[in-house]
Amino acid sequence: MHQAAYKESVSRAEGATPETPESWVTSAQEDLASKLRTQTKVGVAKNVIMFLGDGWGVPSITLARILKGQEVDHVPFGEEGQLHVDTFPFTGMSRTFCVDAQVADSACSATAYLGGVKANTGTIGVTSNVNRMNCTAQNDKTNHVSSILAWAQAAGKSTGIVTTTRITHASPSGTYAHIANRDWESDFDITDTTNGEVDPETCDDIAEQLILSDPGKNINVIMGGGRRKFLPDTVTDTENYPGQRKDGKNLKDMWIESKGEAGKYIENKAQLAEIDANNVDYLLGLFSHTDIGYLDEQEANQDPSLEAMTEKAIQILSKNEKGFFLFVEGGRIDHGHHGNQALRAIWEAVEFDKAIKKGDDLTDDDDTLIVVTADHSHAFSFAGYANRGSKITKFAGTGSDELPYTSLSYANGPGAKNGTAEHRYDISTDPIEEVTYEQVPLVPLDSETHGGEDVMIFAKGPFAHLLTGVHLQSYIPHVMAYASCVGSGAVYDGCNTIPSSTVSSTQSNTDTTTPDPNGANNNNPVMILLMTIIILPFFYR
Ligand SMILES: [Zn+2]
Repeated sequence: MHQAAYKESVSRAEGATPETPESWVTSAQEDLASKLRTQTKVGVAKNVIMFLGDGWGVPSITLARILKGQEVDHVPFGEEGQLHVDTFPFTGMSRTFCVDAQVADSACSATAYLGGVKANTGTIGVTSNVNRMNCTAQNDKTNHVSSILAWAQAAGKSTGIVTTTRITHASPSGTYAHIANRDWESDFDITDTTNGEVDPETCDDIAEQLILSDPGKNINVIMGGGRRKFLPDTVTDTENYPGQRKDGKNLKDMWIESKGEAGKYIENKAQLAEIDANNVDYLLGLFSHTDIGYLDEQEANQDPSLEAMTEKAIQILSKNEKGFFLFVEGGRIDHGHHGNQALRAIWEAVEFDKAIKKGDDLTDDDDTLIVVTADHSHAFSFAGYANRGSKITKFAGTGSDELPYTSLSYANGPGAKNGTAEHRYDISTDPIEEVTYEQVPLVPLDSETHGGEDVMIFAKGPFAHLLTGVHLQSYIPHVMAYASCVGSGAVYDGCNTIPSSTVSSTQSNTDTTTPDPNGANNNNPVMILLMTIIILPFFYR
């Protein structure tokens, strides 16, 4: 069979405005002029929004851009399209390894990008003194890692967490939980995952920590899935799913009671739309018994979009004159990838970008720092030589075994299918354009794995330029704290400016295009030592 036989034959170039040698030069000159005009901002970030794409590695970003270009914006080809996050002026790289692992999971990763301390796989909001499943170490408060959300609360700011996964899932719980096992989302889970060795009476689960402990109980806006983690197993919810808790606690009712008139509890997108932000100071939205549906399932499930949740959250939180911290997770990009469902994962990434745009549109770059990053990547590649303008799901060519392959592929995962002794599995008649199609991976595994390469950081707003360059993932919340004068950032004299006597002429790895009038580079060793002594207690509590 000829090499090109499985390539898409119709290129979108036909009928499109031709790209010319001159048009590339014009485009580059416009980009250059825009970059030369880029100013670093050094005011106080009254608000901080962190957008976290779970499993949002670089291939997912590129493919979301193409898919959005072709299916949403209808640009001539797709590759030349633009995500909203592409417009952010500052980018860097985040090194995601965990204390005990080369490739991160969402738990240790959350501790790093929210608490500023790297930790062990499967643990959340605790230091590496805590090994997975060790509840005794979990209960030792000296092992607790605080988070940017807790620091924002301590500074009198409003706070919110929004996700498409269960609100007790690893990423959002990094803002409020201290747990030795990410799977301990309810008391039932604690007994289930350890065969009863850990007593849920003495080991508080994640849902319980959210509703009954600091800082979870003070969070103004909580939206996501995971309703059953909050309900007793004797109760059936409005969608006829049973609760999961063995301890009889109805955490949903306890939350409603504790918030009184200022609080509102909701379960579907119509109720979300009806919320008047002016009259609501506390909002708990539990939209599903488990994760919120994928984009292609949301309509049937009456689930709100990530964009709609982000919008309502900002409307409520921005009533606080002192500002807010909001965490928004596009959580199901990761789940699509784990299932080898590449197209589904990429649609989730397009939706994530819509939420980022909404957050950016509703806030002002002068007083709001927006940070967009991922917790880790995936064993996912975008490869081969498909024609320009090809649909991302299409065949990219033919292997030396004369069988076709797609541009999207996984190193491992559940989509494995056996071929013959001579040939790998033949995908030529597979429904490769369906959103539930599972790409056929190299190595069969129950769940596709994460990838360990660095992930992107995109930032805009005050001190966003501090996130350029290559950094440990645990650096990120220190920047958010510094820019917004909370937690470790608040100990600096003059809040987020450095006293002039400490300004060093040494170049940092920031990529500023204009000199920083406040001298944000602090390389004085004595000052760093002093700051370290002052800052450390903020993290180990
Ligand atoms: Zn994952």
